[in-house]
Amino acid sequence: MERELVCPVCGKVFRSRWGAQRFCSAGCRRYSYRKNGISHEESAGGTESIRTFYCARCGKKVDVTDIRDRRTRFCCSHCERMYWKHPRKDKKKTDQNQA
Ligand SMILES: [Zn+2]
Ligand SMILES: [Zn+2]
Repeated sequence: MERELVCPVCGKVFRSRWGAQRFCSAGCRRYSYRKNGISHEESAGGTESIRTFYCARCGKKVDVTDIRDRRTRFCCSHCERMYWKHPRKDKKKTDQNQA
């Protein structure tokens, strides 16, 4: 059963062929998610955590709870910097001295 919906991104009226569809096209859907800084497709559906991941550098578990929080791989900018500086090299823990 089709319903007529208005795309919240471009305002176009379109027919939804499946209940969960909110946008007229994948492009509008991506645009909306990018604008909000979150991806519903990746979220597990919890109310508190938008997404959870483990820092690619230190392995710390990170719960992202703020929509504006763009982190997806690292717990902090320090980890991100260190990761790209020293990719895949597990030296001693020298990062604490370089803060
Ligand atoms: Zn649209
Ligand atoms: Zn980290």
